[in-house]
Amino acid sequence: MAFIPEEVIEKILRTSNIVEVVEGYLPLKQTGKYYRALCPFHNEKTPSFTVNPERQIFYCFGCGEGGDVFRFLMRREGFTFPEAVRHLAERAGIPLPERGRSRHGDGLLKLFELQRVACDYFRNALGGPEGAQAREYLARRGVGDDLVARFQLGYVGPEWEGLLRELTKRGFTPRQVETAGLVLPRQGGKGYYDRFRDRVMIPIFDSTGKIVGFGGRAMGDQQPKYMNSPETPIYRKGVHLYALHLASRAIREAKVALVVEGYFDAISLHTAGFPQTVAPLGTALTAEQVGLLRRYTGKVNLVFDPDPAGVQAAWRGLELLVAEEMGVGVVVLPQGKDPDTYVRECGREALAERLHAAQDMVDFLLARAEEQTGLEGVDEKAAAARQVVRLIALMPEGVRRAKYIQKLAERLGVSETSVVGELTRLASAVAAPGASPPPPPALPPVEKTLVQICLLFPEVRSMVWRSLRGEELFASPLRSILRFLREYTGSEEALARNLCHHPDPDVRQVGAELFVHDGGEFMDPHRMVQDCLLRLKLQEIQGELRKAREAGDFARVKALLEQKQAVAGGRIPETDYIIPYGDAPDRREHEGIRTDT
Ligand SMILES: [Zn+2]
Repeated sequence: MAFIPEEVIEKILRTSNIVEVVEGYLPLKQTGKYYRALCPFHNEKTPSFTVNPERQIFYCFGCGEGGDVFRFLMRREGFTFPEAVRHLAERAGIPLPERGRSRHGDGLLKLFELQRVACDYFRNALGGPEGAQAREYLARRGVGDDLVARFQLGYVGPEWEGLLRELTKRGFTPRQVETAGLVLPRQGGKGYYDRFRDRVMIPIFDSTGKIVGFGGRAMGDQQPKYMNSPETPIYRKGVHLYALHLASRAIREAKVALVVEGYFDAISLHTAGFPQTVAPLGTALTAEQVGLLRRYTGKVNLVFDPDPAGVQAAWRGLELLVAEEMGVGVVVLPQGKDPDTYVRECGREALAERLHAAQDMVDFLLARAEEQTGLEGVDEKAAAARQVVRLIALMPEGVRRAKYIQKLAERLGVSETSVVGELTRLASAVAAPGASPPPPPALPPVEKTLVQICLLFPEVRSMVWRSLRGEELFASPLRSILRFLREYTGSEEALARNLCHHPDPDVRQVGAELFVHDGGEFMDPHRMVQDCLLRLKLQEIQGELRKAREAGDFARVKALLEQKQAVAGGRIPETDYIIPYGDAPDRREHEGIRTDT
């Protein structure tokens, strides 16, 4: 957002009340301090879309969509961030700097043209003497000349202004190149420099084959390994599917799309003879992307490596696909292998076999639950069932749904009636969502409460920072929120907004969920924090105890039991206050906190 100054954005936010803006789209009803409505982002029968006017944010407890007024417009109108800013500025009658306005009209055509010229420049460089190392790199990865041509791969040298020079020579202004996301302004505001340097360049196409942006892959240790164009007027994350313009015909013919995570996975699979492969480009599958696939096929095979991030991403895609009535197969690769490495090391035949043996998703989910829990106890069965039932609940009623109910009942050794009962219960708890993002993952409640209090009550933060040395032990979005908060130096007023535009969507989502509360239920935040810290400590001791017992270390067990008793009784040893991985506060602070309670 380089071309609209921060203070103008602040001004726009101050004059744009989120309640008024949202009311232009939805009938809001005030309940207490909040406003509620039926969520525009998923189907529901009771309103879970909530606006907090005091904090100027919204959050939907049904689908997890949330953020500030800009994000609402981006979701609702499909605006980019600059477009949302412009829309609100016009609405509020705030003049925008002139140079920021000239992006309408012929601007878009110019941007497509610019990407094309940049692509040719990168391709020339790959073919020239400076591209030798990149050619070697691609050859090593099994990407031959035909594939280089098909994907229009290129290379950009280590220069700071090579592309910029070329594009200005061809008649584009530096401002246009910046809008296209290919250069960044130099610090101090004098001039620009190339965003991508010394990388293999991978053009990203829309479904019609127009270039909308680029991915850059580092060949050495350069960080980050992958870099994408930022969002621009023609490129939005989660809207395009990589390689779709090359894959669409093959998908129609094969009647199934293969979905992998990254672009090199996609290129590799095309290389190995699976031209029906696409990749969602750095996000979990979105509703828009599923909509694109739907045009060509009713079936998708998700191919991914079995690390937790991969499974998590696949899971989200799964829910969307099921809600769209797509058939879903799951292809799990051996631990530590992504599709790219797998096909290069094990060959085309091995992958073809795995694809052929793609697991039905219910089988996959149950097998995973079995692996993790054994599925023996009643509780394990119930937990596994809930997960699968939640998925089945998303399916429209029909033959497929009935088949899955039967299958689930068989696998768990329960009656079909009880599965249907669970479905009905679930359906009344949450109205069946349409193609909407899945609700946020369940987070550990104690950690969640602690982070929420930290967000809502700045006065408790110093105490928490003193008691926790780091946030590593927290579950993932909470960990990032804590870190964000600890490093945050801006005003309290701008905190919600900054969190709402955090690069990690999970952080935005959970952040909005935690922030939408007014905090009224926390009568005594200091005491609540202390309580949370104690519970965390107890959980930790519990874990240590389990380990010590397994190891047969009875001296350690005894010591831990004593410690546990002391903590449970509120008698925390001075040297081991609250959390062992924190620095022990001095006595004064300890007592200070105590007298607060
Ligand atoms: Zn919703």
